[in-house]
Amino acid sequence: MILESMTQLALEKISTGIEKIVGPENYSKAKYILHSYAEDASPFPGNPPDFVVLPQNTNEISQLIQFAASHNLSIIPVGGRSGISGASIPRTHSSIMLDLTRMNKIISIDKEIMTVTVQAGITWAELIHKLAKEDLTVGFRGPYGGNAGTVGGSLSSNSIGIGASAYGGACDNVVSLEVVLADGSIIETGSGWKKELPETLSHFTRYCTFNDLTGIFLGDHGTLGVKTQATLKIYPIAEGTAFIDFGFTSIEDCSKLLHYLQVHKLVTEAVILGDTNSIELLASTYHDKYPQLTTIVGIIIEEYDQDIANRKKEICEKKAKQFNGKSIGTFLSKAHWLNKFNLVQSLFEEGFWYNTCHLRPINTLPNLIHQTHELFKKYDMKPNEINWIISALATDRCYCTGWITLFLKDPTKRPLLEKIWHELRELEISNNGVPYWTGLLWEDYVLQRVNPAFYETIQKIKNALDPYHIFHPGVFKFER
Ligand SMILES: Cc1cc2nc3c(=O)[nH]c(=O)nc-3n(C[C@H](O)[C@H](O)[C@H](O)COP(=O)(O)OP(=O)(O)OC[C@H]3O[C@@H](n4cnc5c(N)ncnc54)[C@H](O)[C@@H]3O)c2cc1C
Repeated sequence: MILESMTQLALEKISTGIEKIVGPENYSKAKYILHSYAEDASPFPGNPPDFVVLPQNTNEISQLIQFAASHNLSIIPVGGRSGISGASIPRTHSSIMLDLTRMNKIISIDKEIMTVTVQAGITWAELIHKLAKEDLTVGFRGPYGGNAGTVGGSLSSNSIGIGASAYGGACDNVVSLEVVLADGSIIETGSGWKKELPETLSHFTRYCTFNDLTGIFLGDHGTLGVKTQATLKIYPIAEGTAFIDFGFTSIEDCSKLLHYLQVHKLVTEAVILGDTNSIELLASTYHDKYPQLTTIVGIIIEEYDQDIANRKKEICEKKAKQFNGKSIGTFLSKAHWLNKFNLVQSLFEEGFWYNTCHLRPINTLPNLIHQTHELFKKYDMKPNEINWIISALATDRCYCTGWITLFLKDPTKRPLLEKIWHELRELEISNNGVPYWTGLLWEDYVLQRVNPAFYETIQKIKNALDPYHIFHPGVFKFER
């Protein structure tokens, strides 16, 4: 398939050109390598690129982009390819996949401005580990796939995850970006526009002087440029921590508590298990001990002083009681917070994941869960060996994730699963849901509903910044 798209001669010429830029050890056109880069962690069918290149620095990326443009090749920037929406899968032939994972250094930690500047290919696991040695942390600590997921990948796909209840998603935590554009030029956003600022002081604010250029590139799914560096806000590591789980017999009551906690900024993280099946799967001790519970919320409080954390916990307990919740222990909150990136991987034992991750206002969660149960009743989920987890994570102010994931053990049941998966996404998006990543998972559902003027505007931005559609062609169905 790869050779079909290019003659052997052209292939050799291009290889020589790429080799001159990055050296022989940093690129590959070997079929087995290309095929290993065809997929991400989603169930969508793969499509191999024609070359995989592992650049070492921003200048190499700039040269590669100019080289690709002059040879009519597209560029697909990728990080850990841990996405579960199919966002990094090439949509066309004749592409160079830029694997950023060798650009994984911390460039500087600024304790005066409280920022960290990193190369885009660093994983969240590595970043958190290295910052912890300095008694520092980022606010948003990465998606649950943060062992492989990179900062650049998360910022390109609006990731939500650890710390999001207090700090918002990945993109909420950015101060500035370095991006290589379609003509090979390099820009720094935010206060980075001011060339004569010394390197160490140049990235102290995102909003200044001009429009917010950073935001144009956040969530672009690799369609507007290659993010090579990011500056993120940092904080001292908290000294006080409190954990507590509350059980409910009604999702309505649990959602009211979640809303209260978020409005009053009481918690660092609050995660919900939204039905008895999910409690049985993820917190079986609670299911055995309290079989009447239909919802559990796990709460994590981090403060710079243990007394403040304890006091906040007391307030949460008092409020939970008012909403008919009862304190049941710390299993869920501790498992959630302390296992971090290792928490959800074990769920692959339940079968392959078919996720429907999206965002929604907290007060719309109960209705979604009731409607999901109606849908599940229509299909014999368990006898067909299709399992599920319904969960939600409070995010930023008063919204949350809707994490409803289906697990398939028996591949022969895939047609049935596809049907349910499709109906579930229709249900979610037509009932107040908005995806955070798009990718192959959500693209068709989103493009049917997007306001035409909105879509035309982002299309104009695409055409202005990338007139020849070098970057990740086909994504968002952008047309020249
Ligand atoms: C077990 C597991 C748990 C997960 N949990 C979560 C979760 O809680 N929350 C969540 O959001 N996701 C989750 N994910 C998905 C994934 O880990 C995250 O979305 C992560 O942010 C993707 O980062 P990545 O480096 O792997 O990006 P990739 O998959 O490599 O790329 C994602 C998109 O970003 C673009 N891109 C990547 N790097 C760049 C760059 N430097 N410049 C421009 N464009 C770029 C790609 O073209 C693609 O469109 C999970 C995945 C797994 C396997």
